Amino acid sequence: MAVPQNRTTSSKTGMRRAHDALVAANPGECPNCGELKRPHHVCGACGHYDAREVVASVKATDLDEDAA
Ligand SMILES: [Zn+2]
Repeated sequence: MAVPQNRTTSSKTGMRRAHDALVAANPGECPNCGELKRPHHVCGACGHYDAREVVASVKATDLDEDAA
């Protein structure tokens, strides 16, 4: 089994881990319902994207059944 020739110093470990931080999500408001959503993703609350409904929401299907 390959074994490192030299031990990694705590300094080098720290320098490597300086770039390991997680980046926070950048949610924006849905223009339709105002819920926070991920950029360039369909709104999980109302199923809208680019000002039109692309995924039928539970609420919308209930309304369709009432109308029929
Ligand atoms: Zn929405």
